[in-house]
Amino acid sequence: MHVWDYLAEYHAEREDILDAVEQVFESGRLILGQSVLGFESEFAAYHGLRHCAGVDNGTNAIKLALQALGVGKGDEVITVSNTAAPTVVAIDAVGAVPVFVDVHPGTYLMDVDQVAAAITPRTRCLLPVHLYGQCVDVAPLRRLADRHGLVILEDCAQAHGARRNGVIAGSTGDAAAFSFYPTKVLGAYGDGGAVLTDDDAVDRALRRLRYYGMEERYYVVETPGHNSRLDELQAEILRRKLRRLDGYIAGRRAVAARYADALGDTDLVLPATDPGNDHVYYVYVVRHPRRDQIIQALADEGVHLNISYPWPVHTMTGFAHLGYRQGSLPVTERLAGEIFSLPMYPSLSQEKQERVISVLRKVL
Ligand SMILES: *Cc1c(COP(=O)(O)O)cnc(C)c1O
Repeated sequence: MHVWDYLAEYHAEREDILDAVEQVFESGRLILGQSVLGFESEFAAYHGLRHCAGVDNGTNAIKLALQALGVGKGDEVITVSNTAAPTVVAIDAVGAVPVFVDVHPGTYLMDVDQVAAAITPRTRCLLPVHLYGQCVDVAPLRRLADRHGLVILEDCAQAHGARRNGVIAGSTGDAAAFSFYPTKVLGAYGDGGAVLTDDDAVDRALRRLRYYGMEERYYVVETPGHNSRLDELQAEILRRKLRRLDGYIAGRRAVAARYADALGDTDLVLPATDPGNDHVYYVYVVRHPRRDQIIQALADEGVHLNISYPWPVHTMTGFAHLGYRQGSLPVTERLAGEIFSLPMYPSLSQEKQERVISVLRKVL
């Protein structure tokens, strides 16, 4: 057994998914057709925003969003090291410099109280990551951004449908980047991504950037861009799955509630939810000082767990040039040695989950 498996969901939705494939293949238009347009307007509407640009994956969603917001060479972007590496890879890809603040020891989210001290004259952007399915408090970041003339890009790759004080993730930044990598809360059958914004100019820039730098059907490059289009096939599948997103989230919450119920009396540290947050449980991250032993013992019983993430980005060889050392971000570093993720997906059967719980209780 693994932390994620899409086959039960596919078998339940097979007819609809195959119908989506047939619809696209019969449509006569395979790139930037009706399905991409339809998905874009429906995904924007789900967030109460005016614009969504579909792109090829979440990493490029962040990269293109930074460029569309005017973030580039030498600009500093304040984010966290306790994130998926692509958050930082995308910052690096536009020539900007990632600057890390530590995370909160309870929620593992960006410690927003540390952001003000990290701002320098070169700071251009604040990039909170709504990690594991729960939202960072963007309100204090907005106050800082307004005071210092910065833009906010939300990394929503793990937080489709998550809310904080009733406000949906992706609707408060200047732009928000999403991934539809298959494991995500809204996952495609392959790669996909999107950028949300309410700003007309940012949306226009995104559409050019994903299409070589040209206005579609006006074949002149003004500023060279990329080829980062969302695939028509993935868009149609995402469109069908978007209608079920609230159901997937409810399914994840039910799995989380069963874990909390069954493991509350153990010495595992279970996920903490900030007041006012509606967690969507992209991953169910627990913590224990004997993490490596526990993972090995579970693997011996056929239960294979993941760690999100075992190596903080600032300690990776590829980011050594940023000048961080062991000890630079103590909370992030300590977490990386103690956290692990239990199987979490909406179609996880009660039977499978009970097996995880009983093996885990035995090992603990
Ligand atoms: C998955 C993920 C990404 C990258 O998305 P891809 O579609 O895999 O490129 C970026 N940031 C975070 C926080 C993620 O979880």
